Amino acid sequence: MNFSEHIIKLKNSLPASVKLIAVSKYIDSDLVRVAYEAGIRDFGENKVQEAQRKKSELSDLTDVKWHLIGHLQSNKIKPALETFDFIHSIHSLELAQKVNRIAGELKKKPKLLLQVKLAEDSSKSGFSPTELFGAIEELDELENSDFIGLMTILPEGARGERAFTLFAELASLKEQINQLPKAYKQIKLAELSMGMSSDYLEAIKSGATLIRLGKILFSNTFEGKNTKSID
Ligand SMILES: *Cc1c(COP(=O)(O)O)cnc(C)c1O
Repeated sequence: MNFSEHIIKLKNSLPASVKLIAVSKYIDSDLVRVAYEAGIRDFGENKVQEAQRKKSELSDLTDVKWHLIGHLQSNKIKPALETFDFIHSIHSLELAQKVNRIAGELKKKPKLLLQVKLAEDSSKSGFSPTELFGAIEELDELENSDFIGLMTILPEGARGERAFTLFAELASLKEQINQLPKAYKQIKLAELSMGMSSDYLEAIKSGATLIRLGKILFSNTFEGKNTKSID
């Protein structure tokens, strides 16, 4: 099976309620183009600069949506807002406030996801569920922001039942926030961005609407000269 057939097969195996974000951090623009031709329209990148480069190399593909899934540093907010259609990694109130201010300067209203850390993992950032509830009122004051969902990355090694439990927790958190008695203006959580190559089936069972797949889509291309190796 060639690369395009592999992508098409995986895409066709997903329920209609799930959008596949192809994590293109492992591949260069020419392979992104092949994935586009196989029907992918959403691409995820971890780094602002790399996304900027690919986006300009692929500027003829006007219906692609670019998703920032990696950590967002405060000093990269402006180029991130200029480059990405979605930012999945709003990990603190302070970051959200800075993003909102710069979005206002750029006259944009970005689609943002709030990153939640469900288990202790010093290598990952994100709101704890308690912090998120504590920040809701202030997040809702950020009128240049459109908070459309929650995102999580599981701690290293969380698999099977453990993954399932954590994903179900994120889904429940989204429901709890949506059911708060107040009518929020900036916060309408429809999306759950959860699930990577090793755990996307559990994520889908728990209600994921956006899955972020890299290795499982692209690992058979890593031998090629156009690809970077992964560790
Ligand atoms: C790299 C990355 C992915 C893709 O992971 P795979 O295991 O390659 O599918 C998904 N989400 C985030 C945040 C990532 O950094």
